[in-house]
Amino acid sequence: MRIPVIAGNWKMNKTVVESIALVKELKDFIREIKGVDIVVCSPFTSLWVVKEIINGTSIHLGAQNMYWETKGAFTGEISPLMLKDVGCEYVILGHSERREHFKETSEEVVKKTKAAFSFNLIPIVCIGENFEERESGKTKSIIEQEVKALFLEIDSTLAGRIIIAYEPIWAIGTGKSANSQEANLINKFIRELFSSEYGNKVAEQIRILYGGSVNPKNIEELMNESDIDGALVGGASLYALTFSQIVKAAEIL
Ligand code: PEP
Repeated sequence: MRIPVIAGNWKMNKTVVESIALVKELKDFIREIKGVDIVVCSPFTSLWVVKEIINGTSIHLGAQNMYWETKGAFTGEISPLMLKDVGCEYVILGHSERREHFKETSEEVVKKTKAAFSFNLIPIVCIGENFEERESGKTKSIIEQEVKALFLEIDSTLAGRIIIAYEPIWAIGTGKSANSQEANLINKFIRELFSSEYGNKVAEQIRILYGGSVNPKNIEELMNESDIDGALVGGASLYALTFSQIVKAAEIL
């Protein structure tokens, strides 16, 4: 049985004061919820204060990015050591906004994934096709390329701990969610790729999320699919009520 994951990606939103308000409210809403790994990925500037508030609750802390080196002359970067130090357990890597705006490559995402594992951080690796790629029937080949890049560097002892977030880029922040059956087919395909590389046991362990305009209305349908193990949530994670409703729908009772 895979424990579902609901991860909130706040992106570049929320000052420290706003982060405190949001996470305090969320803490109240999710008090009774069990059987789902809840992750809040605040901006770097709020990680410390969010951690202070979620201590002793079932909310886990995640970051939205990191560099692969541990320390040194890399102005402006944040290392896995620093994330660990502030209390992070998860880190989002290779989000499409980073791939698009900051030209992050799959090779860099792999380096970051390796570095995350070496600090015992759970990487949430984002993959997905853009609109043109989807329209020209390239979805599976894009997914395959992005997943296989990970296989080169991640050995079988770690592979089962990775979290993959399938996020069709055209569905992110657009209000246009992928059809749950279509998303499930891609998640299944990702699991098959892991199975052929690491075997069925590892493939059955990894949690594969869906991301792209997830909201309290579509989460139930998504969670009913066999290979969707949770969601990476952007916009709807900025409101404690909607995020907690999504978490609630993913709960294993
Ligand atoms: C995301 O940021 O990864 C995301 C899926 O955003 P949204 O839920 O707003 O589409």
